[in-house]
Amino acid sequence: MKFLFYSLCFFLSLKSFSQSYSLPALKYAYNAYEPWIDAQTMEIHHAKHHQAYITNLNKALAGTKMEALSMNDLLMYASFRSDIVRNNSGGHFNHSLFWDILAPIASQSLISSELAEAINLQFKSMDSLRIKINQGATTRFGSGWVWLSVTPDKKLMVSSTANQDNPIMDITKERGIPIFCIDVWEHAYYLKYQNKRGDYLGAIWNLVDWGIVSQKYAAALNDPLLVEIEKDNWMELKEFHKVMAQTFHPAETDNLEPLKKRSAELMAKSSLLAASVSPKSLDKPAIKIALKQLEKQCIEINKLNNKKASNAILKKKITAAHDTFHVVQGLCHD
Ligand code: MN
Repeated sequence: MKFLFYSLCFFLSLKSFSQSYSLPALKYAYNAYEPWIDAQTMEIHHAKHHQAYITNLNKALAGTKMEALSMNDLLMYASFRSDIVRNNSGGHFNHSLFWDILAPIASQSLISSELAEAINLQFKSMDSLRIKINQGATTRFGSGWVWLSVTPDKKLMVSSTANQDNPIMDITKERGIPIFCIDVWEHAYYLKYQNKRGDYLGAIWNLVDWGIVSQKYAAALNDPLLVEIEKDNWMELKEFHKVMAQTFHPAETDNLEPLKKRSAELMAKSSLLAASVSPKSLDKPAIKIALKQLEKQCIEINKLNNKKASNAILKKKITAAHDTFHVVQGLCHD
């Protein structure tokens, strides 16, 4: 009996462990980053601050549907999340990236020729990139981060965000997949540098492992998340998607009322979508054709609805339009 009880406890602890986030170990000792970042700052920053974001995130997710979501999903749709989830998922992601790209000089690996070329092409030199990033960090008022990211059109981008936001989030204007970051919260430097953010920004560059940043650059270029971000920036697609979801899903369970009320709106949004300028990498003939088809179907649905067509017919037509919409979504990822 006792054995069973303990087995059950073990099983339950594993289960909750597998569904929650935990603090990633640092690759180096707390004092390995000296003299640029002192051991005490590293330890408090990692073991206390980062841990607190994780603890609060796990607490906020526990027992909710969000437990099943990936970190990318939590971040991507930050505008739909509570402030607690937004701040703490960002806090966990951002610090994990920050630790990952830092290394003592003796352990650093070299930048790849691909990343070096991209930097030279876009920023002229590593020095001017550094100046641009430090400007972003210096002008960030209050707490936040400065980023180097890969954008959906596969360019490099320097940006900064407040608090624990980051470029993956749909609440930021300049979006992409971050491959490098600097934490400019006071807790990152105050013990050693006090209010001198500039001195910390001068020192931190000694700790950047460009080999790791290069690996992240190569991975980001092929990450399907880039397409997700690009699609999410296509406002007409997002707007249509909303109305489609809110009319089709009730129709699936034989509730045609939302569709009957909003068929004109659905039609209007489908026309706006078909006429919209798509993001660069989604500018494909197959998508344009599918969007025209979708518009035709939505026009027909509205016509049938105005003629008081039966629920069965409306359901069949909205299901077909929804299928076409899925074709569009699929084409976005080809
Ligand atoms: Mn921090």
